Amino acid sequence: MYGETEVLIAGAGPVGLALALALTERGVAVRVLEKREGLSAASRASTFHPPTLDALEELGVLAPLLPGGVRVDRILWQRVDTGAQAALDLGILGAETGFPFRWHREQQDLTPALLAALPTGSVRFGAGVTALTQDAGGVTLRATDGSTHRARYAVGCDGASGAVRDLAGIGAETNDYAHRVLRLLTPLDLREVLPGLDGLGYLFDETGSCSLLRMPENWRLIFRIAPEMSDRDAMAEAHARARIARFLPAAAELEISGRDVYGVKRAMATAYRAGRVLLAGDAAHLTNTRGGMNMNAGIHDAMTLAATLDLVLGGEPDRLLQEWADARLAVVRDALLPRTDSRVASNPAEEVARMAALSPDGQRIWARQASMLDLARIGMPQ
Ligand SMILES: Cc1cc2nc3c(=O)[nH]c(=O)nc-3n(C[C@H](O)[C@H](O)[C@H](O)COP(=O)(O)OP(=O)(O)OC[C@H]3O[C@@H](n4cnc5c(N)ncnc54)[C@H](O)[C@@H]3O)c2cc1C
Repeated sequence: MYGETEVLIAGAGPVGLALALALTERGVAVRVLEKREGLSAASRASTFHPPTLDALEELGVLAPLLPGGVRVDRILWQRVDTGAQAALDLGILGAETGFPFRWHREQQDLTPALLAALPTGSVRFGAGVTALTQDAGGVTLRATDGSTHRARYAVGCDGASGAVRDLAGIGAETNDYAHRVLRLLTPLDLREVLPGLDGLGYLFDETGSCSLLRMPENWRLIFRIAPEMSDRDAMAEAHARARIARFLPAAAELEISGRDVYGVKRAMATAYRAGRVLLAGDAAHLTNTRGGMNMNAGIHDAMTLAATLDLVLGGEPDRLLQEWADARLAVVRDALLPRTDSRVASNPAEEVARMAALSPDGQRIWARQASMLDLARIGMPQ
C-alpha cells in the first residue's frame, strides 16, 4: 500500500504521463501503474497541435521535443485529376497562439521526455491494473505484479483496451468506422515532386483521397482501403504501387521503407467519472486519425483534469470534478467526434473546391477548429 499517494494513474502512455507530470508540478503525489515492462515504441500519433505545444511548454518538455521535429506552416489540398488546388497558411492563427503551426514528431518521442521529467520511481512498470474498489475515502487498485495501491482518486489513462473503465462500471458507445488504412513510409522528400507541398497534403480524385505527412525521418502516405480487402492484399506491392501511381504519378517508383495497415475505431465512454475514478485519453474517446486529434484531446483532458484535481485535493468542492467530467464528455460528443467524422465523410470530389472557396474569416475558423484551439481549455476550472 502507498498511503501517501493522492492520485493513482493507470497507463504510462502520453496521456497518463502528461497527467502525472502536470499533477507532480502542482505538488500532488502520484503513482503511475503501467501494464507493460517499458514504454510503448509503436509508431502512432504524428501531430502536435498549437494548444498541445502550449501544454508541453507548460510541462517543461517542449524544448527536448523541438529539435529534429518538423514544423508545418501550410496545408495543401489538390485534385490530382483536374490540378485544382487550395492552401491554408496556419500563420493565420498568429494572433491567438504562440505556436501558429503543426509540429510533426513521433508520439514515441514524447513519452520518454515526459517520463524523464517525472521524479524517479513515479511509474511502476509490469503492473497492469486488474481490480478496483472504491469507498468514501479513496480508491484501491490491484495490479498484475501482486501489488495493491490506494489513493484518494484514480484515473484510467489505460487506452482503448484498458481495464479501468469497465472496472469502474462505465459503459462505452463503440462502432468501427467502415474502413482501415494503409500507411506507407518513404524517405523521398515529396516536396520535390509536388509543388506547393509543405508538410501536410491531402490529394483527391473523384472517388478517393490520400494524405501526405512529412515526419522527421520520412513521409507517411495514408490511403483508405476497401472493406473487403485483406490487410495482406492491401500491403502487397502491386496494390501499394497502384495507389501511389494514382495519386503521385511523378513518384510512382518511390522507395517504400515501411508499410502497415491499421483499423480505425470510434468510441466514447458514457461518462468521464464514476465516483473517485476518472478517465482521460483513449480510455474515454477514440476517433478516426484524420486531422490527428485524439492524442491531442487526451493531453487536453490531462491538463484540465490536473488543474481540477489539484483544487479538489486542496479542499474545493467535489462538484468541480463533475463539472470537468461533463465538460470533457461534451467536447468529445459535440466537437471531437463530429469534427473527425466530417473529415472522413466529406465528399472527396468537393473538398478542394470547398477549401478554395473559404473567405479569410472562414479559413481562420477552419484553422482554429483543426488546431483544437477552441477545445483545449474546456473543463479548465475558472
Ligand atoms: C496510426 C495512428 C496514428 C495516430 N495519429 C494521431 C495523431 O497524429 N494525432 C493524435 O492526436 N492522435 C493520433 N493517434 C491516436 C493516438 O495514438 C492515441 O490517441 C494516443 O496513444 C492515446 O494516448 P493514451 O495515453 O490515452 O493511450 P495509450 O497510448 O494507448 O496508452 C495507454 C497505456 O496504458 C497501458 N495499459 C493498458 N491496460 C492497462 C492496465 N490494465 N493497467 C495499466 N496500464 C495499462 C498501455 O500499455 C499503454 O502504455 C493515432 C493513432 C494511430 C493508431
